[in-house]
Amino acid sequence: MGWQGLDQIRIKNLEVFGKHGVLPEENRLGQKFIINATLYVSVRESGLKDDLTKTIHYGEASRFITDFMVKHTFQLIEAAAEQTAWAVLIQFPKMEKIRLEIAKPWAPIGLPLESVSVEVTRGWHQAFVAIGSNLGEREQLISHGIEMLKGLEGCVVEQVSQIIATAPYGVTEQPEFLNGMIRLRTLLDPWELLEQLHRIEAEAGRTRQERWGPRTLDLDIIFYDNCTIDSADLQIPHYDMANRAFVLQPLAELAPYYRHPLLGKTVAQMLEELG
Ligand code: ATP
Ligand code: CA
Ligand code: CA
Repeated sequence: MGWQGLDQIRIKNLEVFGKHGVLPEENRLGQKFIINATLYVSVRESGLKDDLTKTIHYGEASRFITDFMVKHTFQLIEAAAEQTAWAVLIQFPKMEKIRLEIAKPWAPIGLPLESVSVEVTRGWHQAFVAIGSNLGEREQLISHGIEMLKGLEGCVVEQVSQIIATAPYGVTEQPEFLNGMIRLRTLLDPWELLEQLHRIEAEAGRTRQERWGPRTLDLDIIFYDNCTIDSADLQIPHYDMANRAFVLQPLAELAPYYRHPLLGKTVAQMLEELG
């Protein structure tokens, strides 16, 4: 997010007649939904130049939300909120983030409530993904892996480093590696991203025998925003990145001043210290 990321465009109490609900009558007859949304987008340039093309047209955004909510039928307002937010973020790429509330004033629960609503905040994240291969048609596997990433819904490949040849790490009795780094803009959360990376690895014929052993394709999440995650199946930043020149060198090409959230060092510094 840019440092002007606090600007907001607010849509208040947009009424949409939709057919969302768990009961069959709700899907048949429909009812009123009230939408409140905050669109996070820098309005600096549009403000200085008085130029509509530099911002998000709130009329178009309201129309898009209305059409989406009418065209689809969800059982849950959770699903309506989640999927509307996702679609809006893809439709309006300038939007960093959206806060979306969907209220159901006529919720049929037989009690006198004023309304019930679900609110989600969703947005784009930045991830750095390391790519490597030392088995089979390495160049082809890597470029195919990058194409697969480009094809993922909710992922935009923004930058790819040079692909460099490197000596094997850990288990040294194996073929030379090709390594690179990818900068992604993504709507996926870290576990969803990991799942997609595993799927792409599997499609490239990856089988897991020994750790650090030869592989057709390896995709590791190095950074995800400034997140620190330490769970059984996922550690971010990548636990060993500071010790690996084949990670730091391509990363330094894309983001030399990116700072490791735990070590407090920039990528350039880590690379220099590694020698
Ligand atoms: P290394 O993790 O040391 O680079 P490797 O890439 O060969 O070794 P894999 O067999 O590819 O290891 O992955 C083992 C597990 O690591 C994966 O199943 C995954 O759950 C877990 N993992 C933890 N953190 C990450 C991360 N940041 N990126 C990718 N995988 C991760
Ligand atoms: Ca790895
Ligand atoms: Ca891996």
